[in-house]
Amino acid sequence: MTFHAKFSGYADPALHAAGLYIGGKWQSGSGITVLDPSTGNLLAEVADAAIEDAQRAVDAADAAAAGWRATPARQRSEILRRWYQLMTQHAEELATLIALENGKALADARGEVAYAAEFFRWYAEEATRIPGEFRHTPSGSHNILVDHEPIGIAVLITPWNFPAAMATRKIGPALAAGCTVILKPASETPLTAYAMARLGEEAGVPPGVVNVLTTSNPGGITNAMLADPRVRKLSFTGSTGVGRVLLAEAAKSVVSCSMELGGNAPFIVFDDAHLEAALDGAMIAKMRNAGEACTAANRFYVQAGIHDAFVAGLTARMKSLKIGPGYDSETQCGPMITQNAVRKIDRLVSEALAAGARATTGGKPLTENGYFYPPTVLENVPVNASIAREEIFGPVAPVYKFESDDEAIRLANNTEYGLAAYIYSRDLKRAMKVGKRIETGMLGINRGLMSDPAAPFGGVKQSGLGREGGVTGILEFMEPKYFAVDY
Ligand code: NAP
Repeated sequence: MTFHAKFSGYADPALHAAGLYIGGKWQSGSGITVLDPSTGNLLAEVADAAIEDAQRAVDAADAAAAGWRATPARQRSEILRRWYQLMTQHAEELATLIALENGKALADARGEVAYAAEFFRWYAEEATRIPGEFRHTPSGSHNILVDHEPIGIAVLITPWNFPAAMATRKIGPALAAGCTVILKPASETPLTAYAMARLGEEAGVPPGVVNVLTTSNPGGITNAMLADPRVRKLSFTGSTGVGRVLLAEAAKSVVSCSMELGGNAPFIVFDDAHLEAALDGAMIAKMRNAGEACTAANRFYVQAGIHDAFVAGLTARMKSLKIGPGYDSETQCGPMITQNAVRKIDRLVSEALAAGARATTGGKPLTENGYFYPPTVLENVPVNASIAREEIFGPVAPVYKFESDDEAIRLANNTEYGLAAYIYSRDLKRAMKVGKRIETGMLGINRGLMSDPAAPFGGVKQSGLGREGGVTGILEFMEPKYFAVDY
């Protein structure tokens, strides 16, 4: 791997890893360029895995599998705990790396590192509490004993928007369960994954237990791994479109799938909401990672009585944000990940404006270097505009006015997605009643942030299958085995 000179000034050289990580060995290479989204300049070049590399990674994960599965839970737990500690010790370097390759503001990057490390701490604790079950059959014929066994080799595919947390949210439970893994990070943000693998090595993760591959051929590599009968799990986080393709591919060898896919979160503000609290929550739900989050509020439904005050308050807050490279400490809104991402946001906003929406701030891409789109608020947006159906994945807040609770629920559910939703109201009974009728995997009530390693993260409808985090997250990497026992 080669690094742009600028990089060495920002990150601890100890975290500079050297390309593919297979069977505990580093293999340098080139072929995948990593760009600084703040400038479009080259940041680094990393190895491009071929199909044979993926096969070697499966061999390495297989060679390590029996030993890792037999490693006492306490020992697996302690390795994860050390990995958590090392991430915490290196938090600033990791945050800088994330800010560099992903572009997010340093404050967001620091938040991500803390959140990401917590998955290792949480699953270090859960590793020692893997549940089992004992029951009597109703007929009295025999006893039912249920054990949970590691599912086998897991392929983990992660997106660029949380390069650390999306990886630890999978590696933590997989290792705690006793599985070995192959991680394929997004090609825009591989440096964080390699840096974390370096820390894992230092924490004592045995060779082959965690393998990391970057590739320009994600489809070919993944299909080859899924076709290998030793691979028994696919855990994917990314877009619904790619998720559908992978589910079809996994079906060929009936591989167990966990899917964390796209979102289109409604953010509902009732007349009785506390205005300042709703605005604080809106800024977090919309602007964490400059809007590049699957849980990002994508549609603001605001009741008629509070609508104008909410739009005015949101506009003032969005206007005041400082835009710049993520690694500048003053920055509050960094660049988008690619020029294509800016083009998509521009298309959605332009279509909404053409359909009658009005921008109270922002509304068109910035023209300087880098992939910047300014914080934008749109009002008077038609409820059937494309911006209400597609993930914006950027710093744009479209606001829609509604009158009744039933109307808010109908609008909120009018989407193929069902990952996250937010409700602001001082009437908890009303919020819970409405919340029960919203089709979503997660619901924030008077809160703009719901992610927590101890909570089950995931969606319904086309936002995914399964849950990550929480006490059930580990079971995604385990198979129940039933022993019918007659003693
Ligand atoms: P993406 O295009 O689906 O890519 C995600 C990952 O899949 C990347 O590592 C990508 O590799 C890989 N990939 C692409 N095509 C593939 C194929 N045919 N076979 C195997 N792997 C393939 O998504 P993204 O644009 O990176 O991420 C944004 C999306 O992720 C949004 O929809 C967002 O909502 C979703 N997301 C969901 C959650 C959640 O928890 N539900 C969390 C974060 C993000 P390359 O980088 O090499 O293309």
